[in-house]
Amino acid sequence: MNENTPEVLISEEDIRSRVLQLAEQISVDYADGIDLVMVGVLKGSVIFLADLARGLSIPRTIEFIAVSSYGDSNVSSGAVRLVMDVRGNIEGKHVLIVEDIVDTGHTLKYLIGMMKSHRPASIKTAALVRKADKAEVDVTVDYLGFDIGDEWVVGYGLDYAEQNRTLPYIGVIKPPDA
Ligand code: 5GP
Repeated sequence: MNENTPEVLISEEDIRSRVLQLAEQISVDYADGIDLVMVGVLKGSVIFLADLARGLSIPRTIEFIAVSSYGDSNVSSGAVRLVMDVRGNIEGKHVLIVEDIVDTGHTLKYLIGMMKSHRPASIKTAALVRKADKAEVDVTVDYLGFDIGDEWVVGYGLDYAEQNRTLPYIGVIKPPDA
């Protein structure tokens, strides 16, 4: 293995089957006929959102938001700032926030509060992975792919300094500044 190749933590097959399970569950839970809007958090959620959305058997639309990120660092400051809001009208619709990873939980908590200002019918959350031991705030992930330990993960949308987002699996790297 190349020394820069991330070590596999969650395989492509495991991701595929878990995402399909989540999509089936979401399709059942949102069968009330109210419009479902999946709100992806750029950029990390893009691949997860694409697969999740295509696994649904109910009508849905997609929107994107962007928040300030850690940049090239791997330390959470807890400070979150909205960089881009949704463009469509989501009032009265079911909102499902789709995140790549929940670490301290500050970002997701901020996003839930922010979405409330759009007066949706409901707000729920989906995340591909969560670092359960790192939680600093109480935030519910309604649809969770996988719980992982405290390690920096890349792939399936997740990056380190913009690298490795398009890996088909979730891998672990040791950032140089860790
Ligand atoms: P939180 O606000 O929950 O501490 O952090 C959430 C954000 O931190 C994620 O959306 C992501 O941008 C970043 N993040 C935290 N841990 C990781 C990780 O292991 N890998 C990557 N690629 N991003 C992470």
